[in-house]
Amino acid sequence: MRAQPTASHHVGGRYLESANGNELLSTFPATGEVIARLTTADDALIDEAIKAAKAGQKLWAATPAAERGRVLRRTAEILRSKNHELSVLETLDTGKPLQETLIADAASGADCLEYFGGLAQTLTGEHIDLGASFAYTKREPLGICVGIGAWNYPIQIACWKAAPALACGNAMIFKPSEVTPLSALKLAEAFKEAGLPDGVFNVVQGFGDVGAKLISHPTVAKVSLTGSVPTGSKVAALSGEHLKKITLELGGKSPLIIFDDADIENAVSASINANFYSSGQICSNGTRVFVHTSIKEKFLSRLAERTRTAILGDPLDEATNIGPLVSKPQLDKVLSYLDIGQKEGARVVVGGSAASVTDYPNGYFVEPTVFADVTDGMRIASEEIFGPVMCVLDFDDEADVIARANNTEFGLAAGVFTKDIQRAHRVIDQLQAGTCWINTYNLTPIEMPFGGYKKSGIGRENGHAAIEHYSQIKSIYVEMAGVEAPF
Ligand code: NDP
Repeated sequence: MRAQPTASHHVGGRYLESANGNELLSTFPATGEVIARLTTADDALIDEAIKAAKAGQKLWAATPAAERGRVLRRTAEILRSKNHELSVLETLDTGKPLQETLIADAASGADCLEYFGGLAQTLTGEHIDLGASFAYTKREPLGICVGIGAWNYPIQIACWKAAPALACGNAMIFKPSEVTPLSALKLAEAFKEAGLPDGVFNVVQGFGDVGAKLISHPTVAKVSLTGSVPTGSKVAALSGEHLKKITLELGGKSPLIIFDDADIENAVSASINANFYSSGQICSNGTRVFVHTSIKEKFLSRLAERTRTAILGDPLDEATNIGPLVSKPQLDKVLSYLDIGQKEGARVVVGGSAASVTDYPNGYFVEPTVFADVTDGMRIASEEIFGPVMCVLDFDDEADVIARANNTEFGLAAGVFTKDIQRAHRVIDQLQAGTCWINTYNLTPIEMPFGGYKKSGIGRENGHAAIEHYSQIKSIYVEMAGVEAPF
């Protein structure tokens, strides 16, 4: 039990165990070793979390915004001071290499807390001149928000949801993915140490049914989910039934278009970042790489050469570039797509199977894989795989590639590589995606709103845009003259 927490849940400022929960195991994906045993929340614990959040939210909403901001910024500093410890925990829980978790997980969470800590004091309404009278608006919190996380960026997702929610004066009950339950508890500890009132941030563990119970609870005002499109549909349907506000950050099959004038070395770097970082388990990944036919073979040969140098291995070793996938079911799913791709006639340029890693025979490792000669109709080109699998598709014509890039139910992200500034903006303008990059890929600074078009999501995280999704506007008309009535 290398990472056993004090208890499974953190509610009302303290660790709690549920009396009638089911067992929930956390495993280290490199070995399959059980690193922590937890229990899921039972109904009594869910009620306790709601009660705590209700009391905490009342106090928090009445706390001056400047103080709310200070608490968030103090939490950011605590996360930074514990970054190494938190990164090791995240690596144990997710299997992502320490090389990544040291810079992209708690660190991104701290950036988010700092950013929204800074924004807290700037949240104001407006004055509306009505001649003799006037109106004003106030930005008020929603109340209790439920956050439900995916397993690929556990503490980052918890921070990306909690920071804007808390900056606006809400309380949050966060349910991590059952696959990665550990780091959100550490965030709760950091909040407490920073002086957050008890009950304002709570962590309850469980499977989808716990998420569903939280969503349908009458006291909950809003739910923010990061997860797959099918789960997003279920959460939207349940939220709709209970008329809850929603933010959905869902999956994608995003295009990365590389024109013939692109800097090939940078385009290869971006394609690697867009497909192999976190073993490909990133929602915004550019998994459909459209490469102009005139540079295709040059691009593929450099890509293959560089991909063969990737170091797969112990994710706790800082030299490792690629760790295992998060779980056995995810491994099986990705391997099945490697099989499908080959049966569909795609050409394996590099990789193509499970990876055997010395000393880690039970790890869920997959070779970083590049398929070339992929065509639009193939399943590997249209379904989200969520593993280190890149599909390279050919194109010759700008209008044609834009139409093909948009021919998907998803719309999370997109990228364009070209040195022609007009073409870059012209193409980006026509791509149906919420988060886009020109001459780079997958950079998500907190200042930039993040979210999807079409089935990839509803609402936005990060940037000023997130504030709209965690607050509501009250309009107040102030009469300065008499009141006329018809009789
Ligand atoms: P899932 O959709 O399987 O699960 C997401 C979360 O929802 C989990 O906590 C899950 O609990 C919970 N859940 C499942 N069913 C329900 C339900 N009926 N009601 C309420 N909650 C429920 O996603 P994964 O964890 O497998 O994550 C991978 C997916 O997440 C990919 O599709 C990826 O693209 C997407 N994603 C999107 C991001 C974005 O910002 N757009 C970022 C990261 C990932 P449990 O785990 O217990 O089943």
